[in-house]
Amino acid sequence: MKFEAIGRETVILDPTNNMERKSIPSEIRKDPLTGRTSRICHFMPLKWEKPDFDQLVAGTQEYCPFCPDKVMKVTPCFPEDIVPEGRMVLDDKVLFPNIAPYDSLGACATFSGQHFIPMTDITPGHIVDAFRLAIQFFQRVEDIQHPESVYHLINWNYMPASGSSLIHPHLQVFASAYAPNLLQEELSCAKTYYQQQGTNYWDDLVKTEKAGGRRFLGRIGRTSWLTVYAPLGVAGDIIAIVDSANCTLDLTAEDVEDLAQGLTKLMSAYDKMGVYNFNMNFFPGASGDDHARFHLVFSPRTFFNQALGTPDVGALRNLYNEGICMAFPEEINEKLKPEF
Ligand SMILES: [Zn+2]
Repeated sequence: MKFEAIGRETVILDPTNNMERKSIPSEIRKDPLTGRTSRICHFMPLKWEKPDFDQLVAGTQEYCPFCPDKVMKVTPCFPEDIVPEGRMVLDDKVLFPNIAPYDSLGACATFSGQHFIPMTDITPGHIVDAFRLAIQFFQRVEDIQHPESVYHLINWNYMPASGSSLIHPHLQVFASAYAPNLLQEELSCAKTYYQQQGTNYWDDLVKTEKAGGRRFLGRIGRTSWLTVYAPLGVAGDIIAIVDSANCTLDLTAEDVEDLAQGLTKLMSAYDKMGVYNFNMNFFPGASGDDHARFHLVFSPRTFFNQALGTPDVGALRNLYNEGICMAFPEEINEKLKPEF
């Protein structure tokens, strides 16, 4: 396994220091599996200002379709052959079809009846229940042998900088025979790796990172937590890999609890840096994919300019899919490690 980094140096004449020569380092890193590159650059302290949440949230409850007074009236229902009762309910959580679908089997699932849950108030219990409800939905589509029941995916956009148009915490839940781009690329490269090396890439990654130590965060149950070598996120990405699980339906109740616990640790650590938005995606294989390992990726999101609403994804990332990270993942690891 090769962790390749190409060092770069930019020389400028510095206007803040009488136009003296100044050298600015940066690094191009290659993902050891796919070869996809990321830039480690724009070094700055990982510290952001949080907004006034009362002001941010004020007025958004009135039109929120996920609040308890509206969710059972304004959200759609599944046809009888998929979910006979229309919507799936677990305590105060509700799962219903996504009204703006991007595939044939898409759902949204709310976290609770609470309109705004600050990031540090999200408990492992909230996450366990929301994941459980989503997994129950996946099991339903698996039981009816739906043709889209191949990749069981959860995406989480939390708060506006993540791409969420609603404050009310919810998950995007979908099953598809078509893995999205990066998942497809990973699976294809992991299959080649498996054929060539005779071992599972993710198992080897965990072994290598655990021995190296600088990006390893810890173990919770049979989940391993690492900072990603070549991240997409500006404040790094964190990956959690579940031993022996190939697909989402391989997750046990304990795995879901362990993943939930790890995610709240990350939220607590990033909150201290002023981060209050994130993305989280599942990256599973299909059932029986021995070259795959279930993993999820947590990626903190922020604004480059809060007042202007400037997102942290610009042309380089959006159109070239080139990651930009503003600190070394090994340094980000040191900030997160006390939580593990
Ligand atoms: Zn709401």
